[in-house]
Amino acid sequence: MLDADFFHRWMIATAAAVDREADRLTELDSAIGDADHGTNLKRGFASVTAALEKEAPQTPGVVLTLAGRQLVSTVGGASGPLYGTLLRRTGKSLGEASEVTAAQLAEAFGAGVAAVGQLGGAQAGDKTMLDALLPAVDALGVSFSAARDAADAGALATVPLLARKGRASYLGERSIGHQDPGATSAALLVAALAEADTAGGEGSGS
Ligand code: ADP
Ligand code: MG
Repeated sequence: MLDADFFHRWMIATAAAVDREADRLTELDSAIGDADHGTNLKRGFASVTAALEKEAPQTPGVVLTLAGRQLVSTVGGASGPLYGTLLRRTGKSLGEASEVTAAQLAEAFGAGVAAVGQLGGAQAGDKTMLDALLPAVDALGVSFSAARDAADAGALATVPLLARKGRASYLGERSIGHQDPGATSAALLVAALAEADTAGGEGSGS
């Protein structure tokens, strides 16, 4: 079972990965955007970490809704509301339980990813974060490490795509040949699930 501690570890591991990869995310965004994705997310997840430490929420659902609210209010840009929606909807879908199963998390994360699609109007293949998130949802039913591998592959597969949503879409054909920054950060979020699982010691989700 996955408790509030697991979800807290997930968010901390994501913050550490975003911090580590911030320069790379910004570099990717400088090729097909406005060079702020790493800075945006670094600020956002630092504020998530601070809020979680201060409020120490006691259920998985509240950990994620709190994290999502922080992202909405601190990240800005396109990705702030989208990541905020992802975590808030996932958290809301988990309800008030103090522990959830990996299957419940997979289902809730699927609802969160669907909400990202609704908010941003993007579909698979549009060269957005969804290209990492959608394959991760499918693979989450198998294991966290399968989800990580699927998200990584999805992010890599954005390179040859033409951007159809967000700032990169303004570039048209010139967006081809670059990896999408949001798909790259989404893969970090998914990889952090596997890290949180290992750090818990029980291997509860995979
Ligand atoms: P901005 O584009 O406002 O500067 P960021 O640089 O923080 O915001 O984030 C850019 C990322 O947001 C893109 O790489 C893409 O993955 C994601 N994104 C942009 N628009 C959408 C959308 N409509 N749906 C899903 N993801 C999107
Ligand atoms: Mg940007």
